[in-house]
Amino acid sequence: MTTTIHTETSTSDIAAFKARLDRILALESTRRIIEDAEVTGAFPRSIIELLGREGIFAAKWQDPPVPALEHTLALAERFGRLGAGGVASGVTLHDSAIAMLRRFGRSARLREIADQAIAGKAVLCISATEAGAGSDMLGLSSTAIAEDGGFRLRGHKKMASPSPVADYIVLALRGVEEGHQSRDDLALFLAPTSQLRVGKAFDTVGARSISTAPVHFDTWVPADLMIARPGTGLAVLSWGLSQERFAVAAQIIGACHLALGVTVARMKRRKSFGVALFDHQALRLRIADLQARVDMMRLALNSLVADPAGLNVRSSAAAKVTAVRLGCEVMSECMHIFGSSGVLEMETPLGRWWRDVKMSRVGGGTDEMLWEIVAAGLEPDDANYDRLVHEWQPEDVV
Ligand SMILES: Cc1cc2nc3c(=O)[nH]c(=O)nc-3n(C[C@H](O)[C@H](O)[C@H](O)COP(=O)(O)OP(=O)(O)OC[C@H]3O[C@@H](n4cnc5c(N)ncnc54)[C@H](O)[C@@H]3O)c2cc1C
Repeated sequence: MTTTIHTETSTSDIAAFKARLDRILALESTRRIIEDAEVTGAFPRSIIELLGREGIFAAKWQDPPVPALEHTLALAERFGRLGAGGVASGVTLHDSAIAMLRRFGRSARLREIADQAIAGKAVLCISATEAGAGSDMLGLSSTAIAEDGGFRLRGHKKMASPSPVADYIVLALRGVEEGHQSRDDLALFLAPTSQLRVGKAFDTVGARSISTAPVHFDTWVPADLMIARPGTGLAVLSWGLSQERFAVAAQIIGACHLALGVTVARMKRRKSFGVALFDHQALRLRIADLQARVDMMRLALNSLVADPAGLNVRSSAAAKVTAVRLGCEVMSECMHIFGSSGVLEMETPLGRWWRDVKMSRVGGGTDEMLWEIVAAGLEPDDANYDRLVHEWQPEDVV
């Protein structure tokens, strides 16, 4: 069955896209979905259905199938401003899975599922992490073995978000062919969740509503559900993760905007030693420093939007690690400035936001893995070294 994409409600015009998003996110019913998700710790499928129905994904995913970065920035930053890290992450993971299907899904079946996801009729997630391997993706052990014209997928995934409500999961697996197996044989498959066993969602420290859960599988899928054949999976996954990391950086900048604005309001209202907290230079300048860095980070993301060719594995890794670490600093300082209210769950959401942003230092690639990607492109400046550095040598003694 082919799913109709609601193109009549979609638009490539970024101003109209932002206005539509703002309208949807301001709706009382949308706010209630997000607040309920924060309370129950369960990702709301209805948010994907709503965004799909309203043509939000359709506006992003027009032809040609390249991601509209400006739309990604607008979507992720706005979700970040809602202060619900789990929901925001689930939305960007769904969108990043669409990105992979749109760019690399060759079969009619994969394209059809991408259309369903764009229409909000199918929820997607991506899973690579296993109990024995997370950062080291070439150490994964779950396999895809050719069988009866299709593939037998066997193994487990430790974390798939939000698998309890997902219809399909992009699985990173070792593609074993003709008894041959090597570390660089990663393949990607799209597996219907109905064929997998999804475990109970983990109780995470933060971003609770992301609903991350383990999945086990020993199932057969047809060949047309293969997204990337063995040996190409890591490259395709890295491309998809670049989209995800850019979106996470934007989401964090949105969350920082919310936290800093609320904190400045607090500083102007709360008095200490006869004056507003804002009048204490030590506090005011700390917040100004953070706001300045958040503003500069937003400008950096906008410059990637202006030059989409600049978005690659390296720049997206740099954007995510830098934004997330800044986000951790922002949340920690904002929480601190709220004093005791910052640590009381019943009084302020600061503690929840602090925990949410910490999750992003692990999910989507840890700081260290992202710095390794940046390190791989570091170039020595030998010409200036030779010109400027004159280290004393023993033979210089006369
Ligand atoms: C909220 C949340 C949701 C998630 N959702 C998903 C999901 O949907 N799909 C999915 O596939 N995964 C998901 N993950 C898992 C996440 O991608 C992994 O946890 C992450 O990649 C790290 O893998 P690991 O947990 O195995 O840690 P490890 O790889 O064991 O790393 C442990 C620590 O050692 C460091 N380290 C490891 N190797 C090196 C090295 N060579 N040099 C320096 N430091 C190193 C790491 O940076 C880390 O700090 C999620 C995680 C979180 C927190």
